[in-house]
Amino acid sequence: MRRPLVLAALLALFLPSPVSAQWLSLRSDHFQLVGNVGEGDLRNVALRFEQFRDVIGVLNPALLDGSSAQPVVILVFKDKSSYTPFMPVENGAIVPVGGFFQSGQDVNYITLMLDGTGQGFPVIFHEFSHLLLRSVFADAPLWFNEGLAEYYSTFEVPSSRRADIGKPSVRHLRLLQSRRLPFARFFAIDRHSPEYTKDSTDRNLLYAQSWAVVHHAFHGESKRRDQLLAFVTKVADGESTEESFRAAYGIEMAALEREVQAYVQQLSHQFTMFNFKEDLVRRIESRASRISDAEADAWLGDLLAHMRRDEEAAVRLERALAADSGLALAHASLGALQIRQGKTAEGMAHLKEAQTLGTGNEMTYFLYASQLAFEPEREQLQQAAQALQRAIALRPGYTEAKLLLGFVHMELGEYATARDLLLPMVRAERTNHRAALWLGEALLALNDLAAARSVLGPVVARATDPSEKERARTLLIRSAQLQARNDAAAAPQGSQPPAVTDPATKVSRTMNPEFRRLGEGERRDAGVFEAIECGPQGMVFVVRTAETRLRTRAARFEDVEFLTYRTLGSTGVTCGAQVPAMDVYLTWRPPPEGSKTTEGTTVAIELLPEGFAPAR
Ligand SMILES: [Zn+2]
Repeated sequence: MRRPLVLAALLALFLPSPVSAQWLSLRSDHFQLVGNVGEGDLRNVALRFEQFRDVIGVLNPALLDGSSAQPVVILVFKDKSSYTPFMPVENGAIVPVGGFFQSGQDVNYITLMLDGTGQGFPVIFHEFSHLLLRSVFADAPLWFNEGLAEYYSTFEVPSSRRADIGKPSVRHLRLLQSRRLPFARFFAIDRHSPEYTKDSTDRNLLYAQSWAVVHHAFHGESKRRDQLLAFVTKVADGESTEESFRAAYGIEMAALEREVQAYVQQLSHQFTMFNFKEDLVRRIESRASRISDAEADAWLGDLLAHMRRDEEAAVRLERALAADSGLALAHASLGALQIRQGKTAEGMAHLKEAQTLGTGNEMTYFLYASQLAFEPEREQLQQAAQALQRAIALRPGYTEAKLLLGFVHMELGEYATARDLLLPMVRAERTNHRAALWLGEALLALNDLAAARSVLGPVVARATDPSEKERARTLLIRSAQLQARNDAAAAPQGSQPPAVTDPATKVSRTMNPEFRRLGEGERRDAGVFEAIECGPQGMVFVVRTAETRLRTRAARFEDVEFLTYRTLGSTGVTCGAQVPAMDVYLTWRPPPEGSKTTEGTTVAIELLPEGFAPAR
């Protein structure tokens, strides 16, 4: 592989060096800022961001709620020439922007240029809105994301207790009074469309019209806010634009187009003034500090790595480390990049070094652990566990790290520890089926079968991922088998006590998924469990199937195998009508031929998981 090296060397030659610039670093309550601007400018940016965050947080507490939110690093460039190398690139060409938002799993970058024209701040809020709103509308169409970001971009704080949101954009209005993009085309524009990637009037028009559609929905007279949100939600769910539009608005697209056109011709437009009881953030307490050129290179290299410009990133990161081998950030970033490129050994060495240097980047620990978690040696597993604990300490809401740690504990045979880690996750987040599966497995290993069933039942019922469903089913079967073994051991004639901590109780993940296996001469029918008629001669189980009402006998409850795949709390089965009537599999033996009775013998009742559709 000679070419990348040559290319890297060439890039290094032409790389703009940060040597001439003064780079400053500043930490505010919620942001890390790095810039080649003066301290006053850097503090101003920090203040505006804190205020904006404050206001959005008051208006939408849910947006900012979440300890899992990644840190935000704001890189501030003083002019176009220093910013150009970090502008986004599309189809090999630089997309000229005033600011850009780059998301990442470990950190979010916002880059922006302060060019003295005052254009910078709308760009700031535009980009920050993208970050805040990302969690709300993950797959929203481009025009909506841009329109909403433009809507918030005119944010102002005229006094310490007032914020103005949604002020009309004179620039957009002026453009829209003479030009427009036909709606059918406009709604189809995506990240690769020429209207977005080319610096042209159409691009300005795209932003202006996106803004107008949102502003009209929020402040126009026709109250189209809910319809717009319904429309966007449907499109984000993957439905076609035309169908989503029809379903959400119930009018022709041309009708909305006319409304919005009339709206932009109005002489005045409303906005929202929020008055707060408490002062908004008023000043930034911390001071900026000078950072070395090597450290600036590390930040810039990490930004490029997040933009997936690996060649340029590697050159910068290596240059940073050549100048200062003590930069944890550069080690962490280069290590992650190399692992992504398949250079595992080199990458692991850098990640290890970053940890030794005390990096605060939780992804570094997670990545490091991910490489070790699947190794067979105990020592490596223990190292993985340590690294993951560190990652979780740095970001308490780090779900992926917790799941992986649960897995590592299981591999180490530390089932109780795995349970204690996973149980709060499953309780807090009912749809986290992966956590539930690991928890179920830990509970099985701990021989807590009832708890395991209560955790696994809902996964069978609700998981949309077939492999998750299947694994939950497999584990439930295993729980039934363990139950049978426990019961046999508890019976007086039982000889073998269950080997609770025996590694053999660990579930084979390749077992075929199915419910209780049918024995010879047994029949199984799916139906609704209506009643148990109890009497002096024993009991009759009544199950209504699609065709008939089955009645099967048993002398005692103990003669019937009860298996439940439901959540706890709905499993009490006693004599009388069954309320609520549950879906079951009834396993029974037909009466011997020539026998007088028509009633068979009850073998097993399996309570099916909620929502489970049995095969008929
Ligand atoms: Zn944008």
